[in-house]
Amino acid sequence: MKKLISMFAAGVIAATACSCAKTNVLQTSAVPVGWLAKQSVIIDAGHGGADGGGVSVNGIPEKGINLSIAETTADLLRLMGYNVTMTRTEDISIHDKDAEGLKEQKLSDMKNRLELFNTPDSVCVSVHQNRFTDPKYSGAQMFYHRPNTEGQKLAEALKARITGYLQPDNERETKPTDDELYLLCNCENPAVMAECGFISNPEEAALLEQKPYQHEMAFALFAGINDFCISSGRISEKNTKNK
Ligand SMILES: [Zn+2]
Repeated sequence: MKKLISMFAAGVIAATACSCAKTNVLQTSAVPVGWLAKQSVIIDAGHGGADGGGVSVNGIPEKGINLSIAETTADLLRLMGYNVTMTRTEDISIHDKDAEGLKEQKLSDMKNRLELFNTPDSVCVSVHQNRFTDPKYSGAQMFYHRPNTEGQKLAEALKARITGYLQPDNERETKPTDDELYLLCNCENPAVMAECGFISNPEEAALLEQKPYQHEMAFALFAGINDFCISSGRISEKNTKNK
């Protein structure tokens, strides 16, 4: 609980710190409304174990940044009463014990993540970091599976909070994907891959590698998920579960 409170405090501090930006987030925030909502949320920290994901310009693998942001997002959601499951809470692959060899372990790992993403009536977010050969690109971008219209709404909600809190100049469109992202295209729930920023961009990598910015990003993801759960009617505006 102590951890939860300190994490929440970090988020509130993040929101307060951002209130000097273009919008006053404390006035526009609907954050407290989700209190005691028992809505299920699945948070995936991308990669883990032998699969480090992308590597930043400073040599930091994506997997640890993903886990840090995912854990704080999960803590904030739990504090507000959400029923949160994380795909991993350590630097591991979650493959079955009998999976042998990296390829088979990766397939098993993704299958197990998908199984969690298909928990009935859940809202799903997979946390990743982006990279590109040209270091000039920066900014978060949300991806959803094209036919998943609820996923699109979730992506827009996340984008709105990230641009509102952290990246007012980010004009990246939320992007539909076809069948290239296994988790998204096989998920039966609203699902988004949240690429929080470019670790190939020196300035953004420096931010994403630091706890304070990770906490701010987590707060934006948490608030976006909460917004989506309210606007889609998954939780009621009267602070109780809407089912
Ligand atoms: Zn990744």
